[in-house]
Amino acid sequence: MIAGLFVWLAVSSTGNLTISELEKTAQARLALYDSSLRAAIDRYRYLPYVVSRHHQVIDAVSGLGNANTADRYLQQVNERSGAAALYVLDRSGKTIASSNWNTPDSFVGEDYSFRPYFKQSITGAEGFFFGIGVTTGRSGLFISTPIRRNGPIDGQIIGVVVVKLELDELERNWQDGGEVVFVADADGVITMTSRSDWKYRTLLPLSAQNRERIVRNRQYSDEKLQSLDIGGQIADGSGTLAIGSDKFLYDVKKIDGSDWRIFFLTPMNEVTARQGMVMLITVIVSGLILLIILFLRERELKLASQREALEFERIQALNTRLEEEITERRKTENELRGTQNELVQAGKLAALGQMSAAIAHEINQPIAAIRTFCASAKLMIERGKTEQLDQNISQISSLTERMGAITGQLKTFSRKSTGVLEPVDLKVALDNALQLLGPQLDAENCQLERNQPNSPLCVQADLVRIEQICVNIIRNALDAMIDSPEKRIRIDLTSDIDTVIMRISDTGPGMSDDALALLFDPFFTTKEPGQGVGLGLSVTYGIVRDFGGSIKAYNAPSGGACFEVRLPLLRD
Ligand code: ADP
Repeated sequence: MIAGLFVWLAVSSTGNLTISELEKTAQARLALYDSSLRAAIDRYRYLPYVVSRHHQVIDAVSGLGNANTADRYLQQVNERSGAAALYVLDRSGKTIASSNWNTPDSFVGEDYSFRPYFKQSITGAEGFFFGIGVTTGRSGLFISTPIRRNGPIDGQIIGVVVVKLELDELERNWQDGGEVVFVADADGVITMTSRSDWKYRTLLPLSAQNRERIVRNRQYSDEKLQSLDIGGQIADGSGTLAIGSDKFLYDVKKIDGSDWRIFFLTPMNEVTARQGMVMLITVIVSGLILLIILFLRERELKLASQREALEFERIQALNTRLEEEITERRKTENELRGTQNELVQAGKLAALGQMSAAIAHEINQPIAAIRTFCASAKLMIERGKTEQLDQNISQISSLTERMGAITGQLKTFSRKSTGVLEPVDLKVALDNALQLLGPQLDAENCQLERNQPNSPLCVQADLVRIEQICVNIIRNALDAMIDSPEKRIRIDLTSDIDTVIMRISDTGPGMSDDALALLFDPFFTTKEPGQGVGLGLSVTYGIVRDFGGSIKAYNAPSGGACFEVRLPLLRD
């Protein structure tokens, strides 16, 4: 739309500019043609008057003098002035004397009373008339003046002097100039023109009345006076008109001292040619601009889609990386879980190793006792005292039961966790752990203080692992109190609205600040090589966290270390 508007504006402003430019030129040319025409006429205008004042002419018209003397006088004056003819009419319009008296076309004796110029001058006015000569058949301008007997002003009119000018040369000059210029008389008949085909054509069709008058005056001989049909009235000044298929800009001017109008025409095809050129250029330019805009837009779109594609690829790569990371993380998590299980197992085995001495001691005693009972049983059988055998056997049986209990605990402890979560009563787990650690506690001569509610304290967990937590913490307490004069472990089990809390404190030396900071890190240990591996608390930490709980360690105000384990309470 903008391009269309641009073209339209350019074309219309070019049209206006060209028209105003051409108009200026046309006005200047018109003024020039007008002044040259007027100069050509004015050169002769005074001549009839001067001649009318000559006594030979007055004498000839009054019948007093010799007409031939007047003829010669007129011939001489005419030759000098360069006019076409100079002649004198009497009151009846008959030619008395003429400059061409001695030529075959002589006007002498001709009656011109029908001519308008005669009619005008015989009544005292100046005659001004363009027409085709009835005698010569040549067109010309007739200027006439009355001849007065006594003086120029109020003398009686006795005849008329006429000068005929032929403007052929001026017209030829116009034709040679190549421009379109013409003169139209009051009836719109073209009398002089640079276009010879327009001569004696009319601007508009003549009315019957005017045509009749022209014929009566024999003004244009038997010319057809066909109309050019310019399609509309001519306004003063300037405008446009059409002749046939040709369009013109016209400038028109009234010729001073006559009722003639002089026209200067400029073909419109110059305007349309320029407009066409401008239209072509602007269409090409706007087409190019449009193409550039489209090209830029296309490129921008392409770049945008490329950017989008890149962004898409980047996001896709990011997604893939994220997915990979997630898979990796899952794998690591699984590995970690596996490792943790391994560690739990390893921790158990380590604990088993450490416990083996106590276990060996614990089991050796019943074995030795069983051996003694067996020996005494053998003796009883040899001596035939079988009545006491029953007591012996029941003691052996109770000893093996005790051994079975120890190995059973060991078996429970060393078995791998199932990984299935179920409600676990913390009190039961603690019982198992203490049973497992019983021999060690006894060996160390350690007192145990236990505070707990009667109701079960259930958590959603894995029994073996909860036992593991208890074993690890209590074993550490035992280890810490190895040199303590008083060995006492206090276990408090409590619960609040949604948490089970287990506090295990000892009477050991407590922990240094450094140890407190690193306690739960794997392989942190202060124990002698072979004594500890530093995995117990880190495994404990992992288990507690797995069950959604937390663990912390601190030194109790009364001395010794305290471990506090919190696990989510499972309600019935
Ligand atoms: P390990 O028992 O093999 O050393 P742990 O992770 O169980 O590994 O314990 C790490 C360290 O924490 C111990 O070496 C000890 O220094 C400290 N520690 C644990 N429990 C206690 C406690 N009750 N009193 C003092 N120090 C303790």
